[in-house]
Amino acid sequence: MLRPCLNKGSRFELLKRESLISDVNYNKGSIKILFVYPNFYKVAISSLAWQFVYFQLNSIEFISCHRAVWDFSDPLVSLETGQHWSKYDMIAFHFSYELDYLNFIDILKLNNIPLLAKDRDDNFPIIFAGGIAISLFPDILLDFVDFVVAGEVEIFLQNLKSIFDIQGNISKFEFIEAISQKDNIYSKFSKEKKFKVNKKMDLIPFSPIITSMSYFKSNLLIEIGRGCPSFCFFCAASYLKKYPIFIRKNKIIELLENLDLRKVEKIGLLASSLGFYPDLKEILEYILSLHKTVSLSSLRPEIVDEELCYLIDKHNMFTITFAPETGSQEDRYKLNKKFDDEKLFHALELINRLTGVKKIRYYFMIGFGFSDEENKIIRFLEKSKKYFDKSISVSINPFIPKKKTPFENNPFADVKVLKKQYQKLRKELSKLNINYSFESIKKAKIQYELSNFKDSIYKYTE
Ligand code: SF4
Repeated sequence: MLRPCLNKGSRFELLKRESLISDVNYNKGSIKILFVYPNFYKVAISSLAWQFVYFQLNSIEFISCHRAVWDFSDPLVSLETGQHWSKYDMIAFHFSYELDYLNFIDILKLNNIPLLAKDRDDNFPIIFAGGIAISLFPDILLDFVDFVVAGEVEIFLQNLKSIFDIQGNISKFEFIEAISQKDNIYSKFSKEKKFKVNKKMDLIPFSPIITSMSYFKSNLLIEIGRGCPSFCFFCAASYLKKYPIFIRKNKIIELLENLDLRKVEKIGLLASSLGFYPDLKEILEYILSLHKTVSLSSLRPEIVDEELCYLIDKHNMFTITFAPETGSQEDRYKLNKKFDDEKLFHALELINRLTGVKKIRYYFMIGFGFSDEENKIIRFLEKSKKYFDKSISVSINPFIPKKKTPFENNPFADVKVLKKQYQKLRKELSKLNINYSFESIKKAKIQYELSNFKDSIYKYTE
């Protein structure tokens, strides 16, 4: 495990570089929550979800929420005040990625906090976990945390308010018992429950902290939609949310009018199904009128037309991302991913001709069990180069079956086969002069185990 390099002085340096674009009062409430992203500050501050939950927790009048990250975990202290974890009533961990469970274990060990929830008495803060990774497989941490919050934070915040509104001052164990009865909460006290989803998004998730230390530089991130109408068999985005929700243009405009955008360099629009977002062109037009530019997470080829290319150009977008996942359209359709080669190549031709985009980035996965996966990717890339004559880069990941998807019982591919596929791809991509990044097979296998088998985490607790 990679241990962070601790540098106590730099906590202040990080804070100095942060600008708040909306008020966050983190010192008013009597219930103190330490909200930990168990990875480096740079990863944490790039997470829209972590930032937004922090903002939302602090909008509740009886809560003071402070942030903490892996870099400052020996001992674990808050970024805002340097306060020790033991001064908090609750410690919440955010998990976007399964591998962060190992950093969570590391943080507990570093701080001499008993790993198992049953070994922590009243003197320890309540420890709970939330985030997309743990929502898919809450069982993985049930022995280690007092409870798991699955699904959307808005539902949890309502639950939290209702408990304190009714019961006021309650003990640690009364609170855990009470919250365990609520929707989407998993603990040793909770019973079988149906997974609840929000039918609308009243709150627009955005990142209240702007900093050049983020992977997204000084970008304001806004989540403009949740869920996806595609229901690709391998992807949890559709199955977790069940039906997609898009935040309409007027709501986004209202949000932007109320934020201090002076320190914002770019606006990142995020949604798992950005290509289906109905008001995309109107939003791009509106943001241009604010003299700001936009970056987009990834596009679907069928929405790329001359008008969108005009806007892409006006926003000075350098890179456009597509996620074909496989090199063959036939294989793609077997994954329920309706993404046509012909439409993609037409989109590439338009982007090449009408915009200043310098790079196309593709996401592929291998290990689905289709024949000749790597050669199909190579052929797909050779064809792409005919339509886009600037830079192409690819990111290749082994397929990791996830819970709550139709492919949850699929196996992880044979590691030897994956290694051979990587070898072939590396050789051919170099010949094609295509930049590439490959996810480590070892890490992907660990991620697979932590996504599917409850006991897999115990080997990291020794
Ligand atoms: S892979 Fe993309 S298109 Fe398919 S369900 Fe997930 S987010 Fe939607």
